[in-house]
Amino acid sequence: MKTLYDWFYLQSRASWVLFSVLSNLGIAVASITGCWLLGYCFRKRTVFAASQPLIAHDIYLAFGCVLLNAGVSIAGWFLWKAGWIHITFPSWPRIVFDTLLLLFYMDAGMYVTHRVVHHPGIFKIVHRTHHTHESMNPISLFVLNPFEVIGFGALLLSALLLFHLSAVAILVYLSLNILWGTLGHAGVEPFPVTWMRHPLIQQVGTSSFHARHHADLRYNFGFYTTIWDRVFGTLHREE
Ligand SMILES: [Zn+2]
Ligand SMILES: [Zn+2]
Repeated sequence: MKTLYDWFYLQSRASWVLFSVLSNLGIAVASITGCWLLGYCFRKRTVFAASQPLIAHDIYLAFGCVLLNAGVSIAGWFLWKAGWIHITFPSWPRIVFDTLLLLFYMDAGMYVTHRVVHHPGIFKIVHRTHHTHESMNPISLFVLNPFEVIGFGALLLSALLLFHLSAVAILVYLSLNILWGTLGHAGVEPFPVTWMRHPLIQQVGTSSFHARHHADLRYNFGFYTTIWDRVFGTLHREE
């Protein structure tokens, strides 16, 4: 892992910009393909009656989202090189702790910011774009207002600035984030109904959990877990 991060660190500015754009493009293509495959494999378990129509405007927004995500990655690299962000290479117990810490911080931060962007005065400017998708299609995860993409990036960078996190924990978190985003916007529920009743699965933000938020804006503001919705009484009655 250290070799990989050494390679990141030693890139020139131009090659890091190119790497950031290409890697974020690759992640988006993988997520969109994953969404489409999930939709195809579990087509009998659709959450919505019909999928969201694919329109040119949304494709432009998705490209913008990918470029802004690359911008966040470039900003993170500069902050790291300038000594503002410290990345560590500890042993496994600390890696597990850092992964849980980052997940907890981002889960809580995303719940709070999601509640804030649903405030009527802010909703139209920042979050309405994402909610134009009342059902899903494979690019729904990337149909976001630029302010929202920058907001998520700033939250992630704030975690990296606040905590000296493990390199592995950061990569594990980023992988879980794209997996959750893909599952949450697949428009199908791949987990069997019996699993959904398991007390542990009920603490997790599943595909249908986020789909219900798109269908009814009053509930399910969490992303990775349902914990904050339980705490603040915003959990949909069907969870
Ligand atoms: Zn929302
Ligand atoms: Zn969504």
